[in-house]
Amino acid sequence: MAFSPVCSEDISSEGCILKSDTAKKKRKISKDVELDIEILYKAVPQLAKVFRITDKIGEGTFSSVYLGVAQMRDGRTEMFALKHLIPTSHPTRIAAELQCLTVAGGRENVMGLTYCFRKEDHVVIVMPYMEHQAIVDIIGSLSFEEVRLYIYHLLKALKHIHQFGIIHRDIKPNNFLYNRKQKKYALVDFGLAQGTADTQIELLKVDLAGLRKVPRPVFGERNLNSCTPAPPTCKQAALKTELVKAKKTEGTSSYKSPSANQGLLPARTASGSQKAQRTIQQGLTCSCYLTDRVCNVCLARKPQVAPRAGTPGFRAPEVLTKCPNQGPAIDVWSAGVVLLSLLSGRYPFFKASDDLIALTQIMTIRGSRETIQAAKTFGKAVMCSRELPRQDLRTLCETLRGSTSSADDDARGPEAGTATHENTTQDDTPTHRPGGPKPKQRLRKHKEGSDTPPEHLDCSASLKGPANHSSLSDGYQEKGWDTVPDEAYDLLDQLLDLNPSTRITAAEALQHPLFKGL
Ligand code: ADP
Ligand code: MG
Ligand code: ZN
Repeated sequence: MAFSPVCSEDISSEGCILKSDTAKKKRKISKDVELDIEILYKAVPQLAKVFRITDKIGEGTFSSVYLGVAQMRDGRTEMFALKHLIPTSHPTRIAAELQCLTVAGGRENVMGLTYCFRKEDHVVIVMPYMEHQAIVDIIGSLSFEEVRLYIYHLLKALKHIHQFGIIHRDIKPNNFLYNRKQKKYALVDFGLAQGTADTQIELLKVDLAGLRKVPRPVFGERNLNSCTPAPPTCKQAALKTELVKAKKTEGTSSYKSPSANQGLLPARTASGSQKAQRTIQQGLTCSCYLTDRVCNVCLARKPQVAPRAGTPGFRAPEVLTKCPNQGPAIDVWSAGVVLLSLLSGRYPFFKASDDLIALTQIMTIRGSRETIQAAKTFGKAVMCSRELPRQDLRTLCETLRGSTSSADDDARGPEAGTATHENTTQDDTPTHRPGGPKPKQRLRKHKEGSDTPPEHLDCSASLKGPANHSSLSDGYQEKGWDTVPDEAYDLLDQLLDLNPSTRITAAEALQHPLFKGL
């Protein structure tokens, strides 16, 4: 790499040609960020010889990402993203992330790797900096054509990494950088990636599932296998979803009792009492099936171990139900959720604090019977206390898009506009308004289910207070939202196939008629 060491004084932050939106505003960085940058320089002193670190551009549970400006040997300045991994990251995990970037990155809409610094347990991954916009900031102003291109390029990245046997496991807009002006795209963040059985990435052949020391922030997740019903939240009060263990090949109909097909397992330290364990050893069976309680037998069950990385709202049904065989199809599902979000103008679409809520939200869109049926095919028994009809995807998306304004550049999070109102309604009331204006009706002949989204689904997205009744006028037609072709919903339907074995692959999806001419 043609970095030439420079003193950090050589490039002033004003002197850098900063192209990013944030940088353009010459935003004064906060004291906290200044302090973090200082700490990073101290932790990895080599950085100071190469970069002037000017800002923090991302922060997650496992890393902080900084903007670094380097003076190149030819005199130009160039910008880099410096991803500082938390020092507790497992070395194999770090090496696997680097290997994904080096082997698959740098082409086909996948971020490449420039360099890597390490001092003791501090690792900094250096990548080309890509200016990008957050989807949440632009979702309301995207045209249908932009959405079509975005999904095409996301699928292209997925096809590429899947060819290497890489499963990304955390596909979501925050990990797919989008430069709207330049029409550039880059898949980032292989921090949760895993390999397929025949992966070409050596380090992904290691079982990486248990290597993350710090759990992702998944807000009070519970063990699905203890058949604990979701605690009723305001919206969920009337609806319960349970996941019960079924024999691999059996469905719910042949269900006897969970213990009938569970081995005798030691009690979990946290929840299983010795008594419960004795109960199990005595061969007693579960007494909580189809009730709201959790019996001692179930409390004493060992949690089933299956990879379950990612963000609840983007997780595929087979991930949510802890199916042990998970493949690249899980990324395709997540891409489907992204498309659903973009077509409906709601981000995030599913806002779930845990897996059972996420599964319930999926059922509200894809149908409870269909979900239960699909889960059977991968050996999971799911129960839902109420039947939820499958939604027609076009009707759903058009209703959501039409029921709140999606006027240009005005779809921000709750902090913009009518913040107080939205903050209070966000968690308690449906954010879409069934009574609001409907978009031009282009309903299919066979309307499945109701045409309003289920009331307990919080499609919280880009909301700005009460429904704007002029929602259809501003840009709706100019942006092509009145002429979304059936192909878009057909592809969406195939991406959101509940059954991973029939779900379309990324390579197949690229051949879909929606992308004709690309
Ligand atoms: P984490 O594992 O903490 O989520 P990511 O690799 O996803 O880390 O990076 C976090 C954020 O940093 C991204 O969502 C993006 O906004 C920013 N970022 C990461 N890599 C780059 C890059 N190469 N160029 C510009 N921004 C980046
Ligand atoms: Mg990320
Ligand atoms: Zn039980």
